[in-house]
Amino acid sequence: MTQACIRVAEPVLDGREAEYVLDCIQETWISSRGKYIERFEAMLAEYCGVAEAVVTNNGTTALHLALVAAGIQAGDEVILPTLTYVATANAIRYCGAIPVFVDSEARYLNVDVSRIEEAITPRTKAIMTVPLYGHPVDMAPIKEIADRHQLMVIEDSAEALGATYRGQQVGSLAKCSSFSFFGNKLITTGEGGAITTDDKDLATYMRFLRGQAVDPNRRYWHPEIGFNYRMTNVAAAIGVAQMERIQFHLQRRKRVSQWYFERLEQRQDLLQLPYAAPWADHSYWMYNVLIQPDVAVQRDAWMDELAKVGIETRPVFYPVHWMPAYQQYGGNFPVANDCSARGMNLPTHGKLTESDVDYVCNQVVSSLDRMSGRRKTSVRKAA
Ligand SMILES: *Cc1c(COP(=O)(O)O)cnc(C)c1O
Repeated sequence: MTQACIRVAEPVLDGREAEYVLDCIQETWISSRGKYIERFEAMLAEYCGVAEAVVTNNGTTALHLALVAAGIQAGDEVILPTLTYVATANAIRYCGAIPVFVDSEARYLNVDVSRIEEAITPRTKAIMTVPLYGHPVDMAPIKEIADRHQLMVIEDSAEALGATYRGQQVGSLAKCSSFSFFGNKLITTGEGGAITTDDKDLATYMRFLRGQAVDPNRRYWHPEIGFNYRMTNVAAAIGVAQMERIQFHLQRRKRVSQWYFERLEQRQDLLQLPYAAPWADHSYWMYNVLIQPDVAVQRDAWMDELAKVGIETRPVFYPVHWMPAYQQYGGNFPVANDCSARGMNLPTHGKLTESDVDYVCNQVVSSLDRMSGRRKTSVRKAA
């Protein structure tokens, strides 16, 4: 009947993770000092091609730290897409700043660049970009707008480590870029985050704020309100082992996506497949599909059908302006609303085999055919 559950995401920890964690325990460096923290920061900075990386205890605190260090204050306005994970907006609210939502565009689900300028007011301080599911944003026109209006660009790149934009690594495209190392991300430290930047002074200031803003020359003296957003050496040890194999983790995701494309290409009557712009190298953190508008199937009912045959999926994020705490910042965002209602992430992780993807694709197509009353079919890999 149903085979064992195929999960939507799973970490792959088969490098030197266990060895490095054991090393932390044996040397008793388990708190937020130790060699793995600096090593992990250096590896991230080098990989992204920037001067500095500052690691934190999760991706949300990384975002908050970036915004505080960049000087975002109460009453400032920050532009962001409504189609994102709630953490992007929460970090803005933690600063007392006002989120100003913008609609997305339907092909790669990132912010609709043509709608940014109309959202700018005299109070706007920054544009936050979010490369969703691993597709980079079209940064050149965004930077042009930002420069013209003297705004900062800060990127929530939690989902796009490893992606490139016109050959440049995500993480090097904005004033600062934040990452998350939650268990379902491209690389994981359990919980963890980082900010990458080319600005060394900003990095120094972020490290200061991260550690309760303690005066470097006077212990227990705190000239500003800081945070405890430090990452542990144990988490960083896992991160170092993950970074040692980042090419492997990236290639696995791309291979899984390729298997999906080979099987689902022939059924674009049912599904809109992920789109990669010519200037983008998509990291395929999550393989995302949208039910075609003329296929009369409710996304949630479809997810339930797949769960019954052991396939875990996840919906495209609900637009943040739908959430009770954000309705007051709402507006008219038809594309985000529509993509959220029709969109779903298929299982995407490094442990999936080609036969897992075969099984998922056959179930995906047969359930949609059945539920929409279309012909009954299965899929085979294109010859
Ligand atoms: C994962 C993620 C974050 C941060 O998540 P944490 O769970 O706090 O590490 C932020 N923004 C986006 C878009 C994400 O996907």
